[in-house]
Amino acid sequence: MLRERLDEVRERIAQAAIQAGRKPDDITLIAVTKKFPAAVMIQAYELGLRFFGENYVQEFEAKFSELAALAGAQFHLIGHLQSNKTKKAAELFQGIQTVDTPKLVRRLAETGAKLELMIEIKLSEEHTKSGVSADEISRIIDAAQESSTLSLTGFMTMPPWSDDAELSRPYFARLRSLSEKHGLPKLSMGMSHDLEVAIQEGATHVRVGTALFGPRPKPSATQ
Ligand SMILES: *Cc1c(COP(=O)(O)O)cnc(C)c1O
Repeated sequence: MLRERLDEVRERIAQAAIQAGRKPDDITLIAVTKKFPAAVMIQAYELGLRFFGENYVQEFEAKFSELAALAGAQFHLIGHLQSNKTKKAAELFQGIQTVDTPKLVRRLAETGAKLELMIEIKLSEEHTKSGVSADEISRIIDAAQESSTLSLTGFMTMPPWSDDAELSRPYFARLRSLSEKHGLPKLSMGMSHDLEVAIQEGATHVRVGTALFGPRPKPSATQ
């Protein structure tokens, strides 16, 4: 089942890339595995997936011992990082896509870990505004440049959820313009329902959960 879904998602990525005049290989598929057990991640790894996105430091920590042997796997944090969890996050992840303050960058630098960082932009209803101000973006970039272990490569965003993928487009376009303005080439944007639009707007990383693994398991209701 996962194999078929993975083929479908890869086909969607390839089609969207070709239609946009881009190379399918320039788009990295990140398998979003929050709420799924390590066994599912191992299955995905065996089918060739190497990039995994996790939302919660603690949840991932609990799964990590089963995943440590997956050579070449890259784990990226795509959920909010609290500054008191930076040390643990730096031990577990190769990438943090949700950096939103210079302070967080400095805490990550202090760990000495080699990490890829992206700045998370929360775009508001009026898509011209961003949660992280232009000023703040510059200060985050400066903080990252002071570190020899951190590599700040781009931006990440998650538009307000909508059934209509077209409604995500202005947010993705806005993220691309930020990437051009600041010379940070990577763009992590697009999920199960809107990855085509994201790729048309320049996504280099798409984060896909449901389309690969089905609906996320809900914690069973206690009687
Ligand atoms: C859960 C999640 C995804 C994946 O969403 P799907 O709709 O299941 O593909 C992507 N990005 C972030 C930040 C998420 O929290």
